[in-house]
Amino acid sequence: MSRSVLVTGGNRGIGLAIARAFAEAGDKVAITYRSGEPPSGFLAVKCDITDSEQVEQAYKEIEEKQGPVEVLVANAGVTRDQLLMRMSEEDFTSVLETNLTGTFRVVKRANRAMLRARKGRVVLISSVVGLMGGAGQANYAASKAGLVGFARSLARELGSRNITVNVVAPGFVDTDMTRVLTDEQRDAIVKQVPLARYAQPEEIAASVRFLASDEAAYITGAVIPVDGGLGMGH
Ligand code: NDP
Repeated sequence: MSRSVLVTGGNRGIGLAIARAFAEAGDKVAITYRSGEPPSGFLAVKCDITDSEQVEQAYKEIEEKQGPVEVLVANAGVTRDQLLMRMSEEDFTSVLETNLTGTFRVVKRANRAMLRARKGRVVLISSVVGLMGGAGQANYAASKAGLVGFARSLARELGSRNITVNVVAPGFVDTDMTRVLTDEQRDAIVKQVPLARYAQPEEIAASVRFLASDEAAYITGAVIPVDGGLGMGH
């Protein structure tokens, strides 16, 4: 059955791989983008998740063109790495504003129709760093850890309405976000990963699609690591 899916930040990186995975399975997929030409094959809606009005407009367009969102993947996220000593309040709040509050905005808006339908799937993209911490990433780690508490609260609130809320925590994935790292930084990371390599975005997408499938109907409030073993034990 073809569902109405929304992937925030589905125009590139992990989000694009997730959008493709749902589209290949026959779902109707909307993606958000902020600028430039979005990839074809999806309902592309312009939306900055830090702006409530844009979020509202995006949902209206999606509801009109492909129906109320039944599967939401909150993937959009940013980094602004800096050691605490040099981290400005703006470095901190802007990352929280996108990764955590932005996710709150899109989940809250999706929830309305999911409650009415008495079913829904929400998957949040956190990070292994949210569980392990990362030097220079206090803002990012706090935002990604925040998603876990957020998801688990919603899993409790919404479970009786047949809405599941889960978290995928990727390790290091080969995208624009990690391409900014130096070769030395990449080598140092790979040394810590039991599977000794970065993930491909499609490997994250596969877990997201599973969590949104009928087979995962009894999984909620879970944090699924897809990190090559990097975060084992957390
Ligand atoms: P990219 O930097 O490649 O892409 C980030 C995506 O988020 C883009 O689509 C971007 O849109 C979107 N985005 C950022 N800010 C906003 C905003 N305010 N409103 C709407 N969209 C926004 O990152 P990845 O694909 O690597 O990361 C995707 C998710 O996975 C993120 O949440 C990230 O934290 C997480 N993650 C990534 C890991 C990695 O190693 N790459 C590891 C663990 C987690 P635009 O094109 O308009 O900028």
